Parts: sequence; structure tokens; C-alpha cells
Amino acid sequence: MERMVIAGGGLAAVRTCEQLRSRGYTGELVMLCAEPHPPYDRPPLSKAALTEEEHDSTFPTDYAELSVDVRLGVAATGLDPASRTVRTSEGELSYDTLVIATGASPVRLPGPGRQFTVRTVDDAVRLRAELKPGQRVVLVGASWISAEVATAALRQGCSVTCVEAGPAPLAAALGPAVGSRFLPWWSEVDLRLDTGVAEVTETGVRLTDGGHVDADVVVVGVGVRPDTGWLEGSGIELDRGVVVDEHLRTSLPGVLALGDVAVRWSPRWNTRLRVEHWDDAREAARTVAGVALHDPSCGEPLPVHDPIPYFWSDQFGHKIQYVGHHGPDDTLVVRGDGGERWSAAWLTPDGRLTAHLSIDSPRQMVDARMAIQAGVRPDEAALRDPEAKLAPS
Ligand code: FAD
Repeated sequence: MERMVIAGGGLAAVRTCEQLRSRGYTGELVMLCAEPHPPYDRPPLSKAALTEEEHDSTFPTDYAELSVDVRLGVAATGLDPASRTVRTSEGELSYDTLVIATGASPVRLPGPGRQFTVRTVDDAVRLRAELKPGQRVVLVGASWISAEVATAALRQGCSVTCVEAGPAPLAAALGPAVGSRFLPWWSEVDLRLDTGVAEVTETGVRLTDGGHVDADVVVVGVGVRPDTGWLEGSGIELDRGVVVDEHLRTSLPGVLALGDVAVRWSPRWNTRLRVEHWDDAREAARTVAGVALHDPSCGEPLPVHDPIPYFWSDQFGHKIQYVGHHGPDDTLVVRGDGGERWSAAWLTPDGRLTAHLSIDSPRQMVDARMAIQAGVRPDEAALRDPEAKLAPS
């Protein structure tokens, strides 16, 4: 019987299994999950799971019904493409098709002190136990995750300091001009910008300028690295992740990749993208299943995964939604500059809307997505009005 092996046990892996079965795949399906827990959703881990004792984001998927052989606590440890074999922590497993969905792991800082990151349910449970009134929490990096952890820590009565190497919160993702617009939200945080952290000590963090910030709890939110260590030596093309084309095919025959671990070619943006966001992992599963089951004799083209990227963040009582993709050559237009209600748009050098950030306005996000899809070239002056309509009516 044909066997598909899914390496990874997160959103991308679970959705891939569901998609394969819903499209009629009847062969064997084995899912290797390094963690001991049944697969669960990650976005709540830096939100509700940090304040709610009983929080559970386990996916409701019925694996028995789907006939998926879920191997909890079993990691993929190596790949031999010549024999189509995955090495695992519990022996070898042959495959006809392999789907790589091993996600990413947080970057950790040097130093002997205890440091928390938020990636797994165990991380969230450990951190939640520390967020008690009066605890001094130091966040390293004013990133998406840190903003959400700051929100939870303040809610739990902690005092919060955030040490950020850049000039503004979220500056790495959105640039300093947009990032600095968020400063009012950080008013209850002792936010130290342009400040680097050298190491985590037993009593806090040592700064690159020699200073020290005392802490009971140090949370590091400075980014993630794709989990590709197990693929070293396999010959698969890696470049900040597993390189895939727009059909999510890797450089090896019979091997596909998706989610946070993948760097995908985007014809729409004419570049390689690593989109470490929920929507991309979920949507890509459709394409992976379609490509894995594609019959070349059917005359249908291979499915393509090239959506407009989208993500959200819930922080300081607000919902931020970003849709699209922008680069250094694109022009930022702050909409509603100086007002309380504002958003941001990015235009390509030839005037096309390429990305949009909205705050507490899902309607605006939907309009922006439609406008990006339609290739709208908005009038820049009119766009500065946050109420101006984006999508063609
Ligand atoms: P993962 O969810 O990381 O799953 C990969 C799984 O594979 C893990 O369980 C891992 O243990 C397992 N694994 C790793 N190596 C191996 C191996 N060698 N063998 C077997 N298994 C292995 N996105 C948004 O758009 N909005 C948000 O608000 C948001 N909030 C987030 C909050 C947190 C705390 C985190 C961590 C992420 C958040 N995201 C958010 C991002 C989103 O959750 C990810 O993009 C999504 O989880 C990616 O899914 P994935 O399946 O590719 O990877």
C-alpha cells in the first residue's frame, strides 16, 4: 500500500492529513510528532493560554476516523532520499511521498540564566505559572510575541520591562515609522529601545553596553529558525528553510514542504517568501494534498500556493491585521496620520497597493486584500484619509 509520511505535528501537518483524506487518499498516512502532545493550535499560546488556567487549543481532529497513524514523541532525525527513507527516533520508515512540516524553533540567547520562549504548550504552561502579581518580567525584543506576552503579564499584575535593539516596537517587521506609532500602547511597559542584550544571567539580562536589568522572569522573543537540522546531509536544498517552488515541491522527488519550515517561491511577488503565519500554513495544506495526489494524465494543471500573505496579532486590547507583502523599495503611506484612528499602506514604485496594516478594523483588512488582489493603484493623497475606500466597488 502507498505510504505518505508527514514529518511534523502542527497546523500544517494536521491540515495536510485532513486535506488528503477529504480528496480521497486511501493509502497509509503516518504523522511524526516530536512533541508528546496531540497536535494543537499555537496562536492562543501567547494570548489566552498565558492567563487562563484551563486553556486547551488541541485540534478537535479525529485521527482514528481519518485513519492517521499519529506517532507522538517520535521525531524525524534524518532523510535518505535515494531509498525514500526517513530515519526517526524509533527506527526507519519508508515513504512514497514525504511532507515536511516541522515548523520552527525560537532563537535562544547565550548565558547561564533561565530563559522562557513561547512556542510549545509546555512553554506556555511554564510561563503562565511565573506570571504572578509583582513579578519582574523582562522581555527581550519588542516583537509580535513579546507584545502579546507583555499584554498577558500586565494583566496578571507583573511589572514589565522590554529591551529592544531596534528603534521602535515591531520595527523589524513594519519599519520604525509604523513601529513608533505603537508607542502609546506600550505606556505601562518600561520600554528600552536601541538597547542590545548580551546574555541572560542568573538575575536578569546583561546589556551590550555593560548595564544589567534585574528580572524574575526573562522571556526571549527575537525570532525563530526553521527546524531543518534533521535534513542536513540529505541533499535537499535549504536556504533559511526548506526551499520549495510554487507547487510546494522541494528539490527532492516525492518530497513536499509547507508551513513555517518552508521558503516558497511566490510568482505573485517574484521572490522567495518565508511566511511564518497561521493562515499560510493552513492554506498551503490544500496545495500539498492536491500536488501529492495529482494525476498528470488528468490534464489539470498542478495546484499552486501563492496567496496574499495575512496575519494578525492581538495585543494591548487591539487587533492588528497585516495583509500583503512589502519590501524596502515600497512607499509607506500612513493613513490618518496624527489621528487616533490610523492604518498603514505600502505602494510599489509603480503605485500598486502591495500591503496594508489595519487596526481594529477587519472590514478594512478585507477591502485591502481585495484591492491588492485586484492590483488597485490608489491615489496617494486620497489614501491618507483612513476612511477612503480601498477596494473597487
Ligand atoms: P508548527 O506549528 O511549529 O508545528 C511544527 C510541529 O512539528 C511542532 O509540533 C514540532 O514539535 C514538530 N517537529 C519539529 N521538528 C520535528 C521533527 N524533526 N520530527 C517530528 N516533528 C517535529 N500566526 C498568526 O498569523 N497570528 C498569530 O496571532 C500567531 N500567534 C502565534 C503565537 C505563538 C506563540 C506562536 C508560536 C505562533 C503564532 N503564530 C501566529 C504563527 C503560527 O502559529 C504558525 O505559523 C503555525 O503554527 C505554523 O504551523 P506549522 O505546522 O508550519 O509549524
